[in-house]
Amino acid sequence: MNVMFEQSFMELYWQRNEMQLQNYVSDSCNDLTVIDRKIYELLSKSDISCYPFLLRTIVDTSPDCSFLVNKIDNFKDYEKNISDDDKKDTNQYKLKLAKAKKEDVIALMRVRGERAKALDFRSYPELVLSLDGLTKAKLRSILKKHLDENRDSVRSLIEQYQIKWPTWFSDLDNICDSKNNYSSDEQVQYLLSKLGLNLKGNLKFKVSSDNFASFVIPTSKENINVIIKESNSSSEVLTLFHELGHAIHYSMIEGSGLSNVLPPSISEIMAVVMEYIATQILFEGDERKKLNDIMLIDYTRCAISSLFELELWENIAGAEELYMKHYSQLGIEISNPSVWSSDSFRSIDVVYIHNYVLGYIIAKELYKKFTDAYGDNFSRWGNWLVENIYIHGSNLVLQDVMKIYI
Ligand SMILES: [Zn+2]
Repeated sequence: MNVMFEQSFMELYWQRNEMQLQNYVSDSCNDLTVIDRKIYELLSKSDISCYPFLLRTIVDTSPDCSFLVNKIDNFKDYEKNISDDDKKDTNQYKLKLAKAKKEDVIALMRVRGERAKALDFRSYPELVLSLDGLTKAKLRSILKKHLDENRDSVRSLIEQYQIKWPTWFSDLDNICDSKNNYSSDEQVQYLLSKLGLNLKGNLKFKVSSDNFASFVIPTSKENINVIIKESNSSSEVLTLFHELGHAIHYSMIEGSGLSNVLPPSISEIMAVVMEYIATQILFEGDERKKLNDIMLIDYTRCAISSLFELELWENIAGAEELYMKHYSQLGIEISNPSVWSSDSFRSIDVVYIHNYVLGYIIAKELYKKFTDAYGDNFSRWGNWLVENIYIHGSNLVLQDVMKIYI
């Protein structure tokens, strides 16, 4: 690997993350297309064969893709024609936003498809999946197996907890009791000490109900920013453990340079693994059951979302019908299929949502493996994760993890 390339890339990578963070948390208006152009030009003239996952970055930072991604990400552009009354009604707002965005979302899918073909892939999903050693057929079979095994129990849980499609996320949140004597700091310290983890990087937490979402953005090897959208119920621990999973991973990578740029698949899978394992370690009884129910219900929705998306790439014109066909498997009333284009997993983070399902499947397998091999000696669980996953950063190939656990 060319040292000069690696240095130049990392400078741009940290800079971009810093700008993105400012846009998300400080309402800054950094124009990311300028830095995307620099990344694109650098990658286009470099040998990236040691880091094939950067092929996706080449497509996503190409000027036409970058323009559309950043336009869609800065959703205020689409709000101009939405009335104040509609803005107050979450579902009306989502529907109006989806209609305003639809044309750009479709244009972005087309551009990504063309760019992938120019790199000799049949389609953009095939490019992305091939980087993880997956094919569409293989992924579909994993997702369908998960659905077949869990559809009936998820349907009865949806009925039991009275979950409705328009209020899906708040209904899931309400499964747990309201927050009481809860301290995110204590939860984090408790988990880290149970797993015997001494983090190398500095984790900066921001927990607030003002955050539009929860995410982790490292802005240097030492600074890992953890943003948590506060919730009203104790289910917030799932978000906390999930984001902590991302942060621990970034923090424990050995070496400088490109090994610190985690492929999205590995990063997301390991975040779900931490979310699941932490829940089993730190909770018991009814509380643990409810948290496990939430994960099962929502990761099953993710499996359906991914199956919908795979078909959508083959038939954009049939979006609304496909939406109804796939989501109605949840056994609840699905209305307003035009809302499909409001989902960021159809534009910003495409061919991504399946990683949550892979993470959930791998997490359950790993949990069994840890329990059998190490019992409740949790520091050995932590040590296994550090030695086998975390320190390797982007040098770890998802294919190797999948061979063992799926
Ligand atoms: Zn995540």
